[in-house]
Amino acid sequence: MPISIVSQGRDLSTWVKALKEKKPDLDVRIYPDDHPRDEITFALAWNHPLGAFTQFPNLQCISSLGAGVDHVLKDPNIPEQVQISRIKDKNLTNDMADFCLAQVLNYMRDLHKYKTAEQTHTWKPLRYKNKAEITIGVMGVGALGSEVARRLSSNGFNVTGWANSAKQLESIKVYAGAEELDSFLETADILICLLPLTQETADILNKDTLGKLPKNAFVINVARGEHLIEQDLIDLIESGHLAGASLDVFREEPLPEKHPFWAHPSIKITPHIASVTNPASAVDQVLENYDRLQNSKPLINLVSRTKGY
Ligand code: NDP
Repeated sequence: MPISIVSQGRDLSTWVKALKEKKPDLDVRIYPDDHPRDEITFALAWNHPLGAFTQFPNLQCISSLGAGVDHVLKDPNIPEQVQISRIKDKNLTNDMADFCLAQVLNYMRDLHKYKTAEQTHTWKPLRYKNKAEITIGVMGVGALGSEVARRLSSNGFNVTGWANSAKQLESIKVYAGAEELDSFLETADILICLLPLTQETADILNKDTLGKLPKNAFVINVARGEHLIEQDLIDLIESGHLAGASLDVFREEPLPEKHPFWAHPSIKITPHIASVTNPASAVDQVLENYDRLQNSKPLINLVSRTKGY
């Protein structure tokens, strides 16, 4: 049974190589190359052209090539019975924890300020806070966020989390639901967003929520650009309420050359690289689902289409 990879703007050669190395006889087709669409029951997707899956009448599963599924679920044309799975991978999780720890340390030890000072040969020591004086709030403590929270906690920071449902994480107070959001925000000196993009979480980083953070708080968004109202962030930094932000994801990617974020001295930009799926490490779970589907077994790493993640 062939599989089809439906994507745009992404180099798929590493995925094809990983699939073929693990399963040499697998017939891998790349959309929109000519191939019989009615033979496809299992497809891989990343930013597919909206509506493309209507051409696959027998499709049963779409496997996202990453942890997020917002790019799949935003397509209203995917039939209800099609199951959606995603990547849950130890390397992806570790890379995200490394990246967030690096951003936090860079901010709290003012490393970007020393970089600027170096350019003007300025010797100016800055006072820094101890880790124990800083509370980091992780919004979304799922596969990625819970590991980020653990990594920061084991590095000596006070860490809190926020999720949809109550949960226990060692040494980490987890707030749950809309009713506990304010309490979570009020103590977060550094806010890390690791929520999935859903109807409930779109635009969640706005003047009201960010305004509830303590004065001089710092925002790290490594989830999706659509979580953030960009102008609200700029306004809160310029009014002196927020110290700045480190952003890895944007409403429009690549970030347009003339976007005000580029030149803003308190906003640090990375090009959506916080944690990138490594096909060699993620391919096993994709092939496991392919085999499970052929054998009518329940799939792994499924997302709830009702919840949107
Ligand atoms: P998960 O689905 O495992 O976790 C999502 C978390 O968010 C859960 O804790 C969930 O709560 C919580 N959540 C969801 N909706 C709400 C809500 N309305 N209110 C409060 N909490 C909510 O996702 P992952 O950790 O795997 O990934 C998170 C996101 O990170 C991805 O969707 C993707 O967009 C982004 N990402 C970014 C990358 C980058 O390089 N920048 C790389 C990979 C992913 P509960 O546990 O109660 O269900």
